[in-house]
Amino acid sequence: MMDYKKYPSNWKEISHHIRFVRAGGCCEWCGLKNGSVGRRDKDGKWYAIEDIGLMSVEQTLALFGKTLKKKPTTIILTVHHIGVDLPSGEKGDCHNKMDVRPENLAALCQRCHLKADMPIHIANRKKTLAKKRAAKIAATGQISFLGDK
Ligand SMILES: [Zn+2]
Repeated sequence: MMDYKKYPSNWKEISHHIRFVRAGGCCEWCGLKNGSVGRRDKDGKWYAIEDIGLMSVEQTLALFGKTLKKKPTTIILTVHHIGVDLPSGEKGDCHNKMDVRPENLAALCQRCHLKADMPIHIANRKKTLAKKRAAKIAATGQISFLGDK
């Protein structure tokens, strides 16, 4: 979910400019076009829906397997904050949504955006796991305490 309070007031214009003027409507990492409809195979390779339509059933099954049951994907570009270091040498921060220097922004498809955010996802997961573990230990402590009486 986007928290627009974290973004500059002209974020919509900036985002539009990055995606459709600078990037020309294509993912700046993998080149897929915004609005493209298709599927990815098991290795992540993209196939446009028109090309899939020309394949045999065997071919499509071999490439996409069970994922064929799902709706095809529509590419939607979003703008990623990279977190590049500041000219002053200060460390960049990908969480700082106010940092809209062009070099800090990248227009990305869903897959590339996910990849870009992976270190954040991993960090969040670690935090969640640590919290769960702490809660478990607390709960166990309580149980043994209750059992001790
Ligand atoms: Zn991409």
